[in-house]
Amino acid sequence: MTTTIATTFKDFGLAPALVQAVTDLKFETPTPVQTKVIPALLKGTRDLVALAQTGTGKTAAFGLPLLHLTDPAANVPQALVLCPTRELCLQITRDLTSFAKHLRGIRILAIYGGSPIDPQLRALHRGVHIIVATPGRLNDVLRRKRADLSGVQRVVLDEADEMMSMGFEEDLAAILTETPETSRTLLFSATMPRAVATIANKYMDDPEEILVGHRNSGSDTVRHECYVVHAPDRYAALRRILDCLPSIYGIVFCRTRIETQEVAAHLEADGYSAEALHGDLNQQQRDRVMHAFRVRQRQLLVATDVASRGLDVTDLTHVINYNLPDDPDLYTHRSGRTGRAGKEGVSIVLANSREAYRLRSLEAVVRKPFVHKKVPTGREVCEAQLQVLLDRVKGLGADEKRLAPYWPTIEASLSSLTREELMRCLVARDFDRFLSDYDKAPDLNAGAPERSSRREGREGRDGRGESNRRERFERGAPRAPSSQGAVTRLQVNLGRRNGMTPPVLMSILNRATPGPMLRMGRIEIMEHASVIEVFAGDTSDLAQRLNQQSYDGRQIEAKPVGRPGRGGQPRPSRRERES
Ligand code: AMP
Repeated sequence: MTTTIATTFKDFGLAPALVQAVTDLKFETPTPVQTKVIPALLKGTRDLVALAQTGTGKTAAFGLPLLHLTDPAANVPQALVLCPTRELCLQITRDLTSFAKHLRGIRILAIYGGSPIDPQLRALHRGVHIIVATPGRLNDVLRRKRADLSGVQRVVLDEADEMMSMGFEEDLAAILTETPETSRTLLFSATMPRAVATIANKYMDDPEEILVGHRNSGSDTVRHECYVVHAPDRYAALRRILDCLPSIYGIVFCRTRIETQEVAAHLEADGYSAEALHGDLNQQQRDRVMHAFRVRQRQLLVATDVASRGLDVTDLTHVINYNLPDDPDLYTHRSGRTGRAGKEGVSIVLANSREAYRLRSLEAVVRKPFVHKKVPTGREVCEAQLQVLLDRVKGLGADEKRLAPYWPTIEASLSSLTREELMRCLVARDFDRFLSDYDKAPDLNAGAPERSSRREGREGRDGRGESNRRERFERGAPRAPSSQGAVTRLQVNLGRRNGMTPPVLMSILNRATPGPMLRMGRIEIMEHASVIEVFAGDTSDLAQRLNQQSYDGRQIEAKPVGRPGRGGQPRPSRRERES
């Protein structure tokens, strides 16, 4: 991160071992928050309230002075860092450990929920100098009388606004009463809601306020873009935007767990590298999803606000607000997840026309206007994808030596083609999918002229491609295919109790049947099972294909069932994918 502030870490008077550690980490210049907080912690005596976003370098801002002031010879906890989530707790512990790597004998311990308490209690018993903890678990440890905080001289409350909104107020109060009156408290918060101001008043003594950026404002490196679409077009618009951003690495924010599941299931089924992160995952599943995202096995995380807390990834290119949050401060949090560590980021909002007024209140909070963008047309998406494809082809660098034995076969087969024909074939191989998906794609911008092309998109293509998927997803239950001839009913062994919803079932079907889409009828979700109606011509091996799928660890079992009230078994038929 480069800043214009002309101080070096050495100038702060930090221990040479700490200066060496930041040099190893290639931190050249202190960030603004470091420039203000490090001297205040090292030399001052007052409590501090620092308003700073995540990603501004605040871990080093408090971590370096804490380490500098810790006495390894005194075998008691001397500093306590409290933060809202297990992930952030581990991240801070990792950062402090890397800052301390040239210091001798400093022990840093992470205490967090969601994993066994005994190893943490044993480590505490062996003795630590710095505790980094989530409030719930640390309070649990204190209730068991297994930690002594009487030697703590400095307390850091990191992401205090998040801790308040996650309901940690009582735990915090209990913990702070166990620390000495004389200890110094440093509170970090991205925003200053009333609950945080109350904590500051109650537990801090005339704190000095350090402001980095504006109060409750967004990061300067984030561009805010919005697309106004009709509500039923939200998913289709998301796909188009994503199709124009092939290298995106970002979070798609949804408002509810179910919406998160549905959007992620649809994106996965439509071939995007996406996964859901929501409160229903157990810790192991959560860790796996986060890891896959961190190491970029996945480009997109579809998440709720709560589930994504503590996910500390500094190089997100975009955040996408699939739906706007109710609280404008949450928007600041969401958008502040991109544009970190001095990089540029984009926060995209998908809004419907009735939400336009809410955009204005967000502009006031982030103190920046939204850039109003048009949802790309089918043609624009195809152009973007074509460019990606051509770049990829050019960058392939075929291995001549390994191909040599096969050259005669290649030549015999392709030499009759002209240069143009060869180029067309090469492009068609991967590009056809986009052409057919976006062929006659309608204008999705709200306020666009009434869309005859949209109707063509829906009806003229026999129910396949973008518009049909969109309609199924946004409008819930698919249309009955009564006009399309005989219908087969398949029963699937998973129902509401197993988390089944029509979109989840649709995504399982899509996964089981790559290629043109099935013509679907009604979907019934019952408590223990579900029934789908499929045009009989599309079903010959559908049950078999579904039986190879699993959902949430359960094997799918699908079998044909009769029509309700008619009792007849469905007519078996050969699968005809294209009619
Ligand atoms: P934080 O706000 O502590 O989560 O830090 C955000 C990111 O900025 C982390 O990846 C840090 O490693 C990095 N960082 C912190 N301070 C500096 C600095 N002075 N120079 C360069 N990178 C930094």
